[in-house]
Amino acid sequence: RFLSFEGIDGSGKSTQARRLADALRALGATVTLTREPGGSPGGEDIRRLVLEGDPDRWSAETEILLFTAARRDHLEKTIRPALARGEVVITDRFADSTRMYQGISRGDLAVTVDRLHDLMIGVEPDLTLLIDIDPEVGLSRAVARQGSEQRFEEMGLALQARMRAGFLALAAAHPARFRVIDGARSPDQVAADVLATARAHLGL
Ligand code: C5P
Repeated sequence: RFLSFEGIDGSGKSTQARRLADALRALGATVTLTREPGGSPGGEDIRRLVLEGDPDRWSAETEILLFTAARRDHLEKTIRPALARGEVVITDRFADSTRMYQGISRGDLAVTVDRLHDLMIGVEPDLTLLIDIDPEVGLSRAVARQGSEQRFEEMGLALQARMRAGFLALAAAHPARFRVIDGARSPDQVAADVLATARAHLGL
């Protein structure tokens, strides 16, 4: 079983991914919790190349190739082996993030993102939990954390708002895979909702 968390910066998805992994383990499941960009040694190396240093170092096209390369390594080295062992895999971001971040900031590249995905990745999670939040709330949370704050400044509130709308449109287009979770509530309330949704999906 392959689950992903998606959402804009500051949505709380990393916290929720961790809490879901802990809760499912407490129920007896074996869980691999992982993240993108990263999730494998090679993927983490590529994460550093893309997210650290000069943000203008890579063109949009090169960035798409790097994110896809990181995802391919993550799939080969971490996700597929864990699924083959019968584990539940929870990833903090997957291909939907590339569809949004790279596809939205350069709308003309959305088709390229999808074609590269079909060519090199070709799989989707069984269940995607979209943690939906107002970008202003996300920003106020993200300023508490280094890195995300920098990314917010690079992207700006308007772009985060477009990404939120993009994620919601993606969820509406793929209702069998997506569940939209209201991320504006307390972390405990969101976690309870996430756990109930995941348990129903997993039959646990
Ligand atoms: O989710 P996390 O905070 O670890 O993501 C790190 C940063 O990478 C985010 O701030 C996000 O803006 C950026 N990112 C991106 N393109 C992706 C995935 C993440 O620009 N496909």
